[in-house]
Amino acid sequence: MENRLTAFRFLTIQCRTCGCDFIITPQMQEWALSKKLSIPTHCPQCLQERKAQKQQEQATPGRGGGLDDS
Ligand SMILES: [Zn+2]
Repeated sequence: MENRLTAFRFLTIQCRTCGCDFIITPQMQEWALSKKLSIPTHCPQCLQERKAQKQQEQATPGRGGGLDDS
């Protein structure tokens, strides 16, 4: 019997940001490998928050808000 996913197992990783344990699925490992990424070390929740923060930073104009457009 051969199983494509035997190389991957469910991993429990401790998030570096909040310290909670989260599961890395074999699918995620395969996906990371196919993208040549390393296994994430932050839980999905923290990753989402980071993403949202980045997007906010990009969306926020450099100048302090105001109605100052001449
Ligand atoms: Zn976390």
